[in-house]
Amino acid sequence: MESQVIDKSVLQIVQFEHLAWSRKNFPLTEAHEPLLGVVEEVGELAHAHLKARQKIRNNQDHEEAGKDAVGDILIYLVHYCNIRGWDVEKILDDTWVHVSGRNWVKYPETGFPEANEAPMRSQPVRDDIENRISRMT
Ligand SMILES: [Mg+2]
Repeated sequence: MESQVIDKSVLQIVQFEHLAWSRKNFPLTEAHEPLLGVVEEVGELAHAHLKARQKIRNNQDHEEAGKDAVGDILIYLVHYCNIRGWDVEKILDDTWVHVSGRNWVKYPETGFPEANEAPMRSQPVRDDIENRISRMT
């Protein structure tokens, strides 16, 4: 059997699979429900972090609880974005391009040499990303 090259990211695959899974398991879910799930899981992450920091409740695995909460936060965000019709990878990529372009050491006021000078990916890279997304949908 010939192996196939998968040109989708893990994030794209998870978002695509989550759409089918959630339609089957939670067909009536409204966006505020996974949003509340994010908040719940942030609380669980804070609990795990705090108890580890305080060195108490040592009968619990705070490291694993923290990882579990991060995973659940991401899944709830994927669910939220699917309901809203938002592309998680595009949001992450656009945001990362903006954030990673900041240099807070050199420009402590705004992160950029001048206000509103956020960097953009080159057009060919943006076209490639758009093409990969359109083939997925
Ligand atoms: Mg949880």
